[in-house]
Amino acid sequence: KGQALLASQENNESSARTYPRKLPVAIAEASGSRITDMDGRVYIDFLSGAGVLALGHNHPELTAAVRNQLTRLTHGLDFPTPAREEFKRRQLGMLPADLRDDMKIHFCGPTGGDGVEAAIKLCKKATGRGGVIAFQGSYHGSTQGAMSLTSENHPKEGLHNLLPGVHFAPFSYCHRCPLSLAPDSCETRCAQLLVNTLRDTHGGVPKPAGIVMELVQGEGGVIPARAEFVRAIAAEAKALDIPLIIDEVQTGCGRTGTWFAFEQYGIEPDVIVASKGLSGLGLPVSVIMYRQKLDTWGPGAHIGTFRGNNLAFASGVVFLDVLERENLLANVQTMGARLVTELRAMQEASALIGDVRGLGLMIGIEMRGHGGFSSSEVALRLQRAVLRRGLILETGGREDCVVRMLPPLNLPRRTADAALAIVADGLRSVEE
Ligand code: PMP
Repeated sequence: KGQALLASQENNESSARTYPRKLPVAIAEASGSRITDMDGRVYIDFLSGAGVLALGHNHPELTAAVRNQLTRLTHGLDFPTPAREEFKRRQLGMLPADLRDDMKIHFCGPTGGDGVEAAIKLCKKATGRGGVIAFQGSYHGSTQGAMSLTSENHPKEGLHNLLPGVHFAPFSYCHRCPLSLAPDSCETRCAQLLVNTLRDTHGGVPKPAGIVMELVQGEGGVIPARAEFVRAIAAEAKALDIPLIIDEVQTGCGRTGTWFAFEQYGIEPDVIVASKGLSGLGLPVSVIMYRQKLDTWGPGAHIGTFRGNNLAFASGVVFLDVLERENLLANVQTMGARLVTELRAMQEASALIGDVRGLGLMIGIEMRGHGGFSSSEVALRLQRAVLRRGLILETGGREDCVVRMLPPLNLPRRTADAALAIVADGLRSVEE
């Protein structure tokens, strides 16, 4: 049965879709961290809809909140509604106190990419400047503006006239340092390079409208930025009055063990973009939160029919209730640490794992081939081996050499351990 659905998709959908090509699974239904395919096979889902299913599939309290909201109102356009008001209040309430008092919120279109577009437009308008600094390995979305800020060249091939004036600065990818330096003695030269570029008014780049950064590059290969790197850039952005846009689309909403990842870096963004995990249930919604001083938009500056989804608001409020009641940020930290520790133990014993890294429940395993070089082929083989054993993992990163884990934030220990056992077994089979 699954084959028929997969074949139909092959037949009449565009080739742009990604996941089912590598993970040939046709989904019948799902619950919590488990997916059942059309032929009755059960998988542990460590992809979670690319990180959106913060509480796994169909969490009963969230689905009840959505059902209740469905009977009242689904689409409220821009009108105030109780669900919208409560969601907004709770979202702003999740910000550190000094930031909260200085921030406004704007509901964007339904996707993370929409939020990124809004952030860039806002900063351009507020600064009167045009260029943007992004980072090597970045991913910000698939719309033209967001894709312009995404460093991978392949999807941009053949697309003329994307955003001009985007400068890609090196990212602190220490496992494969872009400057070929060693982490203990590098003195964070990658950050210094960007600082010099920004200060060099002759040979550098013109002062940009903003710097857009992921604190853990997700699609880029689960690379947590080094704290010194982020702080140096944040300090320079502040000194030069360049808005710092932190893209928390993937890192936000508890994924890294704090509500937002920036809280762990000791910095304060000027704009925060959030989306994936906001509803907790995978419903489409995105927001930007930004400093009052950037608030230069007039009526019509950034609108759209699907801004603000009342079902997502209702679900998102209950998601926060559950997050707090069940102390899920602590669970993210504990389970994340457990997974990383166990995966590092596997790394000790395996020539095929080059690096294990992550923050909270955003974890990456960089695979390498027998020559010691990072290897997409080995990553793909591991992905297939664990899929056969009932675990769904995504790959990503430069040359697709990183196997990624994005389990739900309420991941129980027994499921974490079951997934680890599958990875260990899958790894053995790839080694043979
Ligand atoms: N920013 C980041 C950091 C992301 O990881 C993603 C999605 N993977 C996006 C933006 C784009 O979000 P969407 O696919 O919902 O447009």
